[in-house]
Amino acid sequence: MKTKRLTTHWDSLSSDELRHLQAAQLRSYLADHVVSFSAYYRELFDKEGIDLNRLQTLEDLSRIPFTSKRMLVSDDGVARTQDFVLIPDEKVLGRRFSTIARALYKGRTGVKEDFEREYRPILMTSTTGRSAEPVPFLYTQHDLDHLATTGRRLMEICDSRKEYRHINLFPFAPHLAFWQAHYAGLGYNTFTLSTGGGKVMGTEGNVRLLKKINPDALIGMPTFLYHVLQMAVEEGVDAPKIKRIVLGGEKVPTGLRRKLKALCAELGSGNVDIMATYGFTEAKMAWPECPARGFDEATGYHLYPDLGIVEVVDPDTGEQVGEGEPGEIVYTPLDSRGSVVLRYRTGDLISGGLTYEPCPACGRRVPRLVGKISRVSNVRRLNIGKVKGNLVNFNELEHVLDDLIMIGSWQIELRKRNDDPLDCDEIIVHVEARDSSSKEVIEHEIEKRFLEATEIRPNRVEFHNAETMRKKQGVGKGLKEEKVVDNREVSSRETPKETPNTITTA
Ligand SMILES: [Zn+2]
Repeated sequence: MKTKRLTTHWDSLSSDELRHLQAAQLRSYLADHVVSFSAYYRELFDKEGIDLNRLQTLEDLSRIPFTSKRMLVSDDGVARTQDFVLIPDEKVLGRRFSTIARALYKGRTGVKEDFEREYRPILMTSTTGRSAEPVPFLYTQHDLDHLATTGRRLMEICDSRKEYRHINLFPFAPHLAFWQAHYAGLGYNTFTLSTGGGKVMGTEGNVRLLKKINPDALIGMPTFLYHVLQMAVEEGVDAPKIKRIVLGGEKVPTGLRRKLKALCAELGSGNVDIMATYGFTEAKMAWPECPARGFDEATGYHLYPDLGIVEVVDPDTGEQVGEGEPGEIVYTPLDSRGSVVLRYRTGDLISGGLTYEPCPACGRRVPRLVGKISRVSNVRRLNIGKVKGNLVNFNELEHVLDDLIMIGSWQIELRKRNDDPLDCDEIIVHVEARDSSSKEVIEHEIEKRFLEATEIRPNRVEFHNAETMRKKQGVGKGLKEEKVVDNREVSSRETPKETPNTITTA
């Protein structure tokens, strides 16, 4: 396993130097690998007449068209996996000076082995989308080295220690989150136990391991971790050594961090840093927050500028926005093999944009994505009362509930009144009360905050104990807990389609 430290070289550059270096690296990466070996991009660059020599700055990136999720699937719904994989042409490689030079001291077999290591796909992950066809994403050994590198950096930025015991609670699945956490342990050369999450050994099994391993650090999905820690509290488990919690796979609101901290305190761990990571299948890596000790809010996701370029664009016009301005996250790798997508539109919005200022907490000079992340398309159409076709932004509703400290886990249920498909829609909020506030107070607070956020109020709030909430959310059943359930008739259901070009707010 070869890993690369985030060198002081990259970490000491001014933002202009860094952007210049990224543009230079992009030109050679595109020329040597992507345009030569990707069927999709060879055709695209040819069709658009893109001259690589004219990509001098990161602003010039706008000459390359975006790639969005729907382009990865053909019109008849089949994933176009091969079109996006770098498949080397032996003749092209054989003519290159670097190949000839390498052959001189490694011999033909040595060169062949190197190329296999670089280009042969050996691992696959896929997207988690529920509605759309999962799109496979392939990794070569070269990509797995990067996965170990980013894993190691993740551990370093989150201030882990080699002697710590880590538990990885991500579900065993062909998804980035599990593999990134697994390779973080390998890349950092530290003890990491992967439990496989709730589906493999249930919430109880994870609680048992928590007791047995007495870990220093946990990594997993926030909602699942919440249930594990809460069950551990119920069972009177002691876990006094937890110092770091690293979260991924879902967004992580401030309120949920507070709830996890409170649970750790009840387990005997009073001083825990809670950090989130941000990543997606197409990036093949995840970026972490640092502990940001002494700061009220996290200081953003720390990027790896030598491995990829992150742009923030206006979701409507597609134009790059200024430093610190909100917009949609767009990603271009700088050294990937296997599946490669350029200027990939994530459909994720970042509220505080991209910054090149040194991190106020840890001092690192890498670019950071700052603020809250939400989906461009988490907007649903509801028919409430006489008002038909209300657009409701569920990002807002989810934040309201996550940030409400008096409740623990929650679920929003959408259904038809009287189960009549022609009747109007109802919103029912299921919650678990966490503190001594009365039901009336909690109900009132939820109504008030719903109205403030979206101008609608829930039809009712139902209270449940932790066990019932675990069942409702399907903890340990699926890969993700169900926090928004749509029980309206299928025929009247209107789930938002992937529409990365539009942003709708209620
Ligand atoms: Zn930092």
